[in-house]
Amino acid sequence: MIDGFNRKIEYLRLSVTKKCMEKCIYCSKDDEKCAVKGEELPAEAFIKIADACAKLHINKVRLTGGEPLLRHDLEEIVRGIYDLNNYKDITITTNAQLLAGKAAALKKAGVNRCNISLDSLKPDVYKEMTGGDLNKVFKGIEAAFNESMLPIKINTVLIKGKNDGEIDDFIELAKQYPLSVRFIELMPVGDMLLTGISNEKIIKEHKYLLPLNTDEKSSGPAKIYTAKGFKGNVGFISPITNCFCSSCNRIRVTSDAYLKPCLGNEAEYSLKEALSLDTNELAKTISEIIRKKPQNHTFSDVFNADRKMKDIGG
Ligand code: SAM
Repeated sequence: MIDGFNRKIEYLRLSVTKKCMEKCIYCSKDDEKCAVKGEELPAEAFIKIADACAKLHINKVRLTGGEPLLRHDLEEIVRGIYDLNNYKDITITTNAQLLAGKAAALKKAGVNRCNISLDSLKPDVYKEMTGGDLNKVFKGIEAAFNESMLPIKINTVLIKGKNDGEIDDFIELAKQYPLSVRFIELMPVGDMLLTGISNEKIIKEHKYLLPLNTDEKSSGPAKIYTAKGFKGNVGFISPITNCFCSSCNRIRVTSDAYLKPCLGNEAEYSLKEALSLDTNELAKTISEIIRKKPQNHTFSDVFNADRKMKDIGG
């Protein structure tokens, strides 16, 4: 559907859980400050929301969190959404800690692609930044390749003094492997005492990377670059230095049933009551909220998000 600023909204991001086994320094530090307004929705509620969104011509869905693979019924959610016969693209964003053991079942249920978060190629730095095990991420990436969940996108958030010395190593990864390594600028969601790295600066310092003309459907908000001899490519997602709000096509639903029309704005609307209505009525409620989607994010103002990214679904 078209929102109040003439943007075509066609992409639903469902945060299926706020739980995560990792504790990323920019995402879930100060866990006790996380706003939890209600219980996590059951599988059938997520499927009903996806069904209602399908009626609004939303045709792409991503399952995120928290860590979506911690939901024991994730396959049920995926299969239910797949069976709606509306979503051509069912994707997940995962830290890959559990992916090696679950990739085959998820693929069978209907997941066609995955984005894998990977903030360091050094085991000790990875552990320090996330609390996780780097080796499991590599095994997860291998499993995703084996299941042809392609193209595999690697999400990297660069933090000054932590992993910003690894920029060239990540670019090398895109040279050696058919992966899309995407640098996502740090967004000030929740209390943020860390400093991110500007994508503009990286692009300026890596002049051998040349922009690729890609359609927005496959690359989303990422500006894609590559160079001679590269098997993969490098993407830059720059909500801070190159805001893409004018082409934002997405809405988010939290695991406790709040619809957030904009990641970088505190407004959120409960779907709880509407979930007890029939799917057409739920679609009507969602469409009314989509019309309230703000024109721009408010990251540059003082943005005191009540929720952490893991509640909203990054
Ligand atoms: N647990 C899953 C994972 O790690 O991929 C999914 C949820 S996580 C919140 C989704 C993505 O949001 C990750 O790639 C993470 O790096 C990104 N993210 C979290 N907080 C962020 C922030 N403040 N700024 C930019 N990206 C952030």
